[in-house]
Amino acid sequence: MSDIDSLLDRNRAFAESGAWRNTPRLPFLPFKNLYVITCIDPRTDPADFLGLEFGEAIVARAVGGRVTGLVLRDLFYISYLVEQKAPEGPYFEAAVIHHTDCGSRLLEDPELRHGFAERSGYDEAELAQLPATVPADTVRADVEKILSTPQISPRITVSGHVYHTDTGLLETVTKAAHPGT
Ligand SMILES: [Zn+2]
Repeated sequence: MSDIDSLLDRNRAFAESGAWRNTPRLPFLPFKNLYVITCIDPRTDPADFLGLEFGEAIVARAVGGRVTGLVLRDLFYISYLVEQKAPEGPYFEAAVIHHTDCGSRLLEDPELRHGFAERSGYDEAELAQLPATVPADTVRADVEKILSTPQISPRITVSGHVYHTDTGLLETVTKAAHPGT
């Protein structure tokens, strides 16, 4: 028996509920016009702390919620799809969320970082940039990275937030702004 087997009953209940019939229209226009970028940490699932329901948001998750090249590529792709396939919109808000007590901070340890770089082949200097040491600072930097990427549609907006694991509260650090502004 695999670990996912114990959840198949929940899947059957979901299928029976019919919730999946209420589907956002392509290309990827979620009901709340929201594209959330957050950490893979099991404590930082936006379905929990934002109460997101079926089809309400696109959710991208990466270590630390950091906007790496792959995260940026996906965001670029979706914003391009909306421009091409649904130019009338609505365009979405990309909400970047970093959090306190993040596991990415374990990479602040030079020994662990060096060992991981050797084992993985990833650039050690790049890995040193990954930890969300001060999440308010890293989230500002990542929002700025998206806003200054010229390929991203200027019709979307981007905002930055910190999720506090000790209170469950989300704090807005940068208000929604359009790329190129
Ligand atoms: Zn984290």
